[in-house]
Amino acid sequence: MEKLKRECEECTACELHTVRTNIVFGIGNENADILFIGEAPGENEDLQGQPFVGRSGKLLDELLAEVGFSRNDNIYIANMLKCRPPKNRDPKPSEQAACLHFLERQIEMINPKIVVCVGRIAAQKLISKDFKVTSQHGTFIERDGRLYTATYHPAAILRNIHQKPYAQEDLRIIKEKLLEISK
Ligand code: SF4
Repeated sequence: MEKLKRECEECTACELHTVRTNIVFGIGNENADILFIGEAPGENEDLQGQPFVGRSGKLLDELLAEVGFSRNDNIYIANMLKCRPPKNRDPKPSEQAACLHFLERQIEMINPKIVVCVGRIAAQKLISKDFKVTSQHGTFIERDGRLYTATYHPAAILRNIHQKPYAQEDLRIIKEKLLEISK
């Protein structure tokens, strides 16, 4: 994983390398059963080189802790893109295409039982292009021997706090599913 991270640090495959402060490679347990994937780093993530920091990260950590998950212990957190799109715009398809191989190799190395897409962009790239978080969050599909699901992005929850109970329920379901498939 360190070798892949170094490769990522040197990557110039899309224009985002010209505006990054740091790459945001990922954090957590490299043998985790659950991998959370967001879309791309934001401003704080770019400055600190870590995924999901700032208010969104604090909320995600709070939601994870409610079900006994922690980025310092039993999960891994990464993004589809490793560099921040300017002004937090959505990643362009060309940028997604250029960067996705890093995430695919992370998935291979971590070999999680469950992949959780955090927010619409990750879900539409990794589950299906017409995935709707509002109606399909907390559901599972099987692909390549692992389960994929999606939940609300914490930034979206901060904009609409009524979504928080849905994300809490999703995480409870994910924890139950992990226990079920680990028996
Ligand atoms: S976003 Fe990905 S593909 Fe683009 S420069 Fe950064 S690491 Fe390379």
